Amino acid sequence: MGEGKERDLVIVGGGPAGMVAGLLFTRAGLPVTVLEKHGDFLRDFRGDTVHPSTLRIFHELGLLDRLLQRPHDKVPAIGARIGDRHYEIADLGFADPRWAFVAMMPQWEFLDFVASEARRYPHFRLVMNAEATGLLHEGERVSGVRYRHVGEERSIAARLVIASDGRRSVLRGEAGLKVEDLGAPMDVFWFRVPKARTAENETIGVFAPGRIIALIDRGDYWQCAFVFAKGEAEKVRARGIAAFRAEVAERAPMLAGDIDAIATFDDVKLLAVSLDRLETWHRPGLLVIGDAAHAMSPVGGIGINVAVQDAVAAANVLAGPMARGEDPDPLLRKVEKRRLSAVRLTQAAQKAVQQRIIAPLLAMGDAPVRPPLAIRLLDRFPRLRRIPGRMIGFGYRPEHVRSPVGPRHSRESGNPATVPPSRE
Ligand SMILES: Cc1cc2nc3c(=O)[nH]c(=O)nc-3n(C[C@H](O)[C@H](O)[C@H](O)COP(=O)(O)OP(=O)(O)OC[C@H]3O[C@@H](n4cnc5c(N)ncnc54)[C@H](O)[C@@H]3O)c2cc1C
Repeated sequence: MGEGKERDLVIVGGGPAGMVAGLLFTRAGLPVTVLEKHGDFLRDFRGDTVHPSTLRIFHELGLLDRLLQRPHDKVPAIGARIGDRHYEIADLGFADPRWAFVAMMPQWEFLDFVASEARRYPHFRLVMNAEATGLLHEGERVSGVRYRHVGEERSIAARLVIASDGRRSVLRGEAGLKVEDLGAPMDVFWFRVPKARTAENETIGVFAPGRIIALIDRGDYWQCAFVFAKGEAEKVRARGIAAFRAEVAERAPMLAGDIDAIATFDDVKLLAVSLDRLETWHRPGLLVIGDAAHAMSPVGGIGINVAVQDAVAAANVLAGPMARGEDPDPLLRKVEKRRLSAVRLTQAAQKAVQQRIIAPLLAMGDAPVRPPLAIRLLDRFPRLRRIPGRMIGFGYRPEHVRSPVGPRHSRESGNPATVPPSRE
C-alpha cells in the first residue's frame, strides 16, 4: 500500500545516525519520517557511549542539560588492565568541563531522548516495526522506500532517502553501492555477568594472554565483549561452557564470583566484527550515512560518535537548501566529501590498532602480555594521555551544528534551520 503524500525526507534506521539526522532535519522545518525495524530501542548489541563531541552538539542544540538528566555515568579517563597492572591510557580533562567525559548512557536512553525531542515537532514521524525492504525508483533516481509494517507491505515516496540502517544495510546493497572490505582480525562474544553497583563507573579493557575482554559497567551487570581471533567461535564453543567460564574468570578475575550466570552458550551471542566503507555514499535521491556507509570496528568505542557526526554534516549541508525547496542531489557529494577524510583517518587508526596490537595479542597463546611502549609512556606521562583522549573524545574533524540555538526563525522567514518545537 502506498502512502499518498511525498515526505521531504525518509530516514531508514533509528540508530544514532538516523535518530540524530531525524531531529536535525525536523528542526529545520522538513517533514521527516524515520522507519525503524524494531519495536523499541532496547537492543542488546549496542555501545553505550556518548562522546564529548556529541555532548557538545547537544549543547549547541540547547539540549545538553536535558540529555544529562537521563541516567548516565561520567567517565573522564580511560584505562586498561594489562597482566596484573592497571594502566591509564586516555584523559579528557583538557576539554570544556561541560563535556570533558564520555557519558556512559544506555543507548536506549539516548535514542529515546532524541526521539522525544524530535516528536516535539509536529512534522516528525517515527514508525517502529517498519522494516525497509527495498527502494522505489523514478528512472535512475531513488524516489522512496518499500517497507513492511506489522506484516503489511507498504511504500513511501520521498525527495531524499537517507539510509542509516547499520552495517548490515539492505539499502546500500539494493542501491548497488560498492563496499570496500578493510578487514577485521577478530570477532566478539557478547554476554552479561552480574556485578555490585559501584560509585564510579568501572568500565575497563582487560588485555590477557591471547584474549582481550572489554568490560562495560552497566550498573548491576558487566556487559562483556570477549574478543577472539576471527573464525574461532566454533573452537571456543567446542571446549564447552565450563572451560569458557574458567577462561573468562582467569583472565578477568573481577568476574569470577558471578561467572556461573553464563549458564550455556545461549547466553553468549556472537558478533561478527567488520570494518568496511562504501566507495560512494550516494546516488540520486539516496544518501548513506553511519555504519551503513562505513562499518566501524569496536576499537576505541567510537562508532556512535562517528555516526552522529555524519548526521550533523548531512543536516548542515542539506537541510537549509531542502527547506528552500532546492534539489538535494547536487549536494550529496558534498556530504560525502565532508565526512570521508574523517572516516578514512578513523578507520585507518582502528585498522592499525587491529593489526599492531589486537591480532598479535590474539595470536600469542598463553605467553604473558607485555604492554606496548606507547601504553607504558601514556601511563607514565599524564599529559600525553590527552592525545588519545582527543582522538576518542572528539575524533577527526568533529562537526558543529550550523544553526545553534539562537533567535528563532520560521521556514518562511528565510532561515529554515531553527523552527521552534510545538511545545516546550
Ligand atoms: C560489539 C560492538 C561494540 C561496540 N561498542 C561501541 C561503543 O561502546 N561505542 C561506540 O561508539 N560504538 C560502538 N560500536 C560501534 C557502534 O555500535 C556503531 O558504529 C554505531 O551503532 C553506528 O550507528 P548507526 O546509527 O550508523 O547504525 P546502528 O546503530 O547499527 O543503527 C541502525 C539501525 O537501523 C535499524 N535497521 C536496520 N535495518 C533496517 C531496515 N531494513 N529497516 C529499518 N530499520 C533498519 C536497526 O534496527 C538499527 O536501529 C560497537 C560495535 C560493535 C560491533
